[in-house]
Amino acid sequence: MDKSVIKFSHCGKDIFCFFVPEECPECGMGFSGRRLEEAPISIPNPFTNGHKTPCAFLIAPAEENTLREYDGGSDLHTGITDTNGIAYNYTKSGVRRDCEGWEHCISIRLVQPDMYNLINQWDQYLEKFSSAQMWDPLWKSFNEENHNCYSYTLMFINCVLAMQSKRALSKDEFTQTFILPRIKRAAKYTMLCQEITHNHFYIVDSPKRDSQKEQDDEDKDEKSKS
Ligand SMILES: [Zn+2]
Repeated sequence: MDKSVIKFSHCGKDIFCFFVPEECPECGMGFSGRRLEEAPISIPNPFTNGHKTPCAFLIAPAEENTLREYDGGSDLHTGITDTNGIAYNYTKSGVRRDCEGWEHCISIRLVQPDMYNLINQWDQYLEKFSSAQMWDPLWKSFNEENHNCYSYTLMFINCVLAMQSKRALSKDEFTQTFILPRIKRAAKYTMLCQEITHNHFYIVDSPKRDSQKEQDDEDKDEKSKS
């Protein structure tokens, strides 16, 4: 999974692969000595090692969660890292402090590197927040609907926002802005890697194809007129 996905376009297709091939897998034209229509671009890998991303919000896809216990039916698990990359996350047994298991996840930094005051207080703040009675399973039990890993991370993020005099995020905004776009990107990337691993290429119609087709049709019209 450490290979990076690249994309190039040829004969109206977008072709995703790990290496630009000698010839176009669609039309068979050799590329040696020829220029591609556009330079291949690399697709950013949405996954990072959460333990190497301090002061961040982490989202881990379920299938990657072999070391961690799961939140029942939830597909995803979320957490917050301290300044040393320890992943704090809320589960049925309370708040866990994981030193491993978040090596392949989506990480979103919550502070800018120049926010020294916040960074200096971060670990103490996260520890205090996590030790609150609210996350003690004897006091309040985990609930898939409204007292889960999301509630924990969202509430912490809102505390951090409040410290910066920023407005709190609603559960809906949190899902729509923090979670879904990144999950979609990660799911697409995972799909691309699987397709390329099995078939060497993943080929789709290029979005430009329609305008090219229109151009071709216009050319035909020109010809038929003459
Ligand atoms: Zn081609």
